[in-house]
Amino acid sequence: MAIIVQKFGGTSVANPEKIKAVADRVMGHHRQGNKMVVVLSAMAGETNRFVDLAGQMQKIPDPREMDVLLSSGEQVSIALFAMAVKAAGLDCVSLLGDQVRITTDNMHTKARIKSVDSDRISKYLDAGKIVVVAGFQGITEDDDITTLGRGGSDTTAVALAAALQADQCEIFTDVEGVYTTDPNICQSARKIDRISYDEMLELASLGAKVLDIRSVSLAKRHKVPLHVRSTFTDTEGTWVVEEDKTMESMLVSGVTYNKNEARITISKVPDTPGIASRLFTPISDAGIVVDMIIQNTRAGDLTDMTFTVPKTDYDRAMELIEKIADEIGAERVSGDKHIAKVSIVGVGMRNHSGIATTMFHILAKENINISMISTSEIKVSCVIDQKYTELAVRALHDAFNLEKENQPDKE
Ligand code: ADP
Ligand code: ASP
Ligand code: MG
Repeated sequence: MAIIVQKFGGTSVANPEKIKAVADRVMGHHRQGNKMVVVLSAMAGETNRFVDLAGQMQKIPDPREMDVLLSSGEQVSIALFAMAVKAAGLDCVSLLGDQVRITTDNMHTKARIKSVDSDRISKYLDAGKIVVVAGFQGITEDDDITTLGRGGSDTTAVALAAALQADQCEIFTDVEGVYTTDPNICQSARKIDRISYDEMLELASLGAKVLDIRSVSLAKRHKVPLHVRSTFTDTEGTWVVEEDKTMESMLVSGVTYNKNEARITISKVPDTPGIASRLFTPISDAGIVVDMIIQNTRAGDLTDMTFTVPKTDYDRAMELIEKIADEIGAERVSGDKHIAKVSIVGVGMRNHSGIATTMFHILAKENINISMISTSEIKVSCVIDQKYTELAVRALHDAFNLEKENQPDKE
């Protein structure tokens, strides 16, 4: 008897009909003799609605209460799913994160899983029940509800698959797999059949939200192969696995974008030793992850510091930075929430020069201004005005020939 973990995202459970269709699919596997563990997201749009409601109560919502609110969406979907299964005459049990005992740290709204107790689920599976678990949530050692960060249901699924030593972990979503770029904004995007954990990590970290980055690192650590596929078709999707020789070795394997970051600039900062540490320590102490950082030199003893943070942490980061800027005598703090980071990713870039220049050239041809740049050996990222995101993604996808099966190989 195989243990199969299947995760269905928000659009897959968007309404009662879709929940019933998902239940049918799962029951089919159950009838074939598999032990089924299902992880569900909140119905599409619900988590965003909660974020909006919270914002109407408090400018910076209290993180503990935010998690009580955010976690409620998944509670609704698992209850409805269990009812759908029971209506069809099979046995099913729904479990919240704390009922499973998915223990996390206490970083509310972006908690990390510390441990998963698989006993209760195993007992129910042995008793012939389908088990449906609320994604995206856990519980601290002090019994406070936590959530794992947006998109966190993927991580719940992988954590359960690892804890149960499942035979399969499938991530069902609204596209047929992992593509060379978001198929919803670029028609020529091509589905990738197999991709390594490392390349997927890079794509996910740069905005390919089809998989939550933490789910990929957890899958890599526990050697859980992931199958990303569509809820609405039976087509084979993308396998995320350990790197092997059969994989395409592309110069550029994907184009990503991230509209969820915001820029903060502190102008005319006294350029003295320790200033970066003074600025960024309170930010990291607050659990805010800084992404790109650029320091410009000005004439004299002054410097400008620009960095990006997740948009959801922007107000908190601004509050902290304005306070420090005042203390250290910086002239001005400014910010911009309407930015996007567009990136090209590919392990093949390692041995190739000129890729970044090509990217700059393509953006220039489209008249898109670049405000920040960062590079590593396998990616180049540019921050641009958010309104040009789609244009930039399509132009880059086209220019690097990603729609074609056989892109010229690196030497
Ligand atoms: P779910 O609700 O099922 O978790 P998500 O919205 O989190 O689904 O992720 C699926 C979406 O990811 C797709 O609808 C697509 O727009 C987006 N996406 C972004 N980049 C990619 C990519 N490289 N490949 C596939 N989908 C992508
Ligand atoms: N419902 C959560 C979100 O919208 C978690 C998830 O869907 O994975 O981010
Ligand atoms: Mg998702």
